Amino acid sequence: MKKYNFNAGPSALPNDVFKYSSEAIKELDQTGLSILEISHRSEKFSEIICKAKHLALEISGLDNNKYEVLFLQGGASHQYLMVASNFLNNLAGYVNTGTWSEKAIAEAKYYGNVIEVASSKDKNHTYIPNDIQILEDLDYLHITSNNTIFGTQFHKFPDTNFPLIADMSSDIFSRKINFSNFDLIYAGAQKNIGAAGVTMVILKRELLKKNIRKNPSILNYQNHVDKQSLYNTPPVFSIYTCMLNMEWILKSGGIEAIEKKNINKSKLLYNEIDKNDSFYGFVEKSDRSIMNVTFGINNNYNSEKFDKMCSNNNIHGIKGHRSVGGYRVSLYNAITIDSVKILVEIMQKFNKEG
Ligand SMILES: *Cc1c(COP(=O)(O)O)cnc(C)c1O
Repeated sequence: MKKYNFNAGPSALPNDVFKYSSEAIKELDQTGLSILEISHRSEKFSEIICKAKHLALEISGLDNNKYEVLFLQGGASHQYLMVASNFLNNLAGYVNTGTWSEKAIAEAKYYGNVIEVASSKDKNHTYIPNDIQILEDLDYLHITSNNTIFGTQFHKFPDTNFPLIADMSSDIFSRKINFSNFDLIYAGAQKNIGAAGVTMVILKRELLKKNIRKNPSILNYQNHVDKQSLYNTPPVFSIYTCMLNMEWILKSGGIEAIEKKNINKSKLLYNEIDKNDSFYGFVEKSDRSIMNVTFGINNNYNSEKFDKMCSNNNIHGIKGHRSVGGYRVSLYNAITIDSVKILVEIMQKFNKEG
């Protein structure tokens, strides 16, 4: 039996993705070839990558003439340095909301000056700083829209005239936002879009004009745009899974329907955390993430017993990140409300039995 998988990433994907991608490994659409062996320059693969790009634009409601979609390698971690190598000329601003922001800042420092325009470090990243004041002239402002490790999420984005860049690895396409407020977003696929190995980048063409530094080809966005993500061999299988997942998003009613479902799932779980005296939430209520729910167990309750009850009931992947402890339940798009109900029932049972 398949487990109820609440892993933070790689994580659960829709059944359609598992089904169609495994079929394509055997044979892709009656081509007589597996997705793993077709040429990335074949007409068939061009169709796939082109479709993936258009699905991303359709889901995000962005104009094909203004935005480009790239499928790159190296993970979100590689985007930390790529963003800075292309666009950090004098000074970039970063909002530090946790581990991933800190990594982004560290990489950017190889290329230029960085200031933390706001930080939640003072309270161990349990909130999202609001009312961000920017006095400096920035090349761009970088945020992490959802903090996978700590369980906080921007519900209102900074209002800025500087190019806004976001690491959306763990909440892309999970909720309705105005994507056109962003100049560049990136997301490692393995949280909410597809198989690990590809990173989706959506960028405004206008932003490319701000690139002054000469970069090696592999680091140069313009090069990847010119080559339509085929500068070198792309991760064909991962891109295929992204395409399937985005088809599934549209088939499921698009981003609005997905958001509704995600809000319901997270409400169900947060309500239980708040009313069940065995547990407590880690972060500020107003900044809670609808994707990664973090919580602890109260001292007088036996966490080993809870862990055992979970594993006996096929619940998988809820251990908190090692830097935070406690529990983290990831509620990405593919997670059903029924899986969350099962977890909530266990939490209730645990509370009664003590
Ligand atoms: C997982 C994660 C990353 C790291 O992604 P890689 O693809 O492993 O480099 C970066 N940022 C956020 C917000 C994440 O959740």
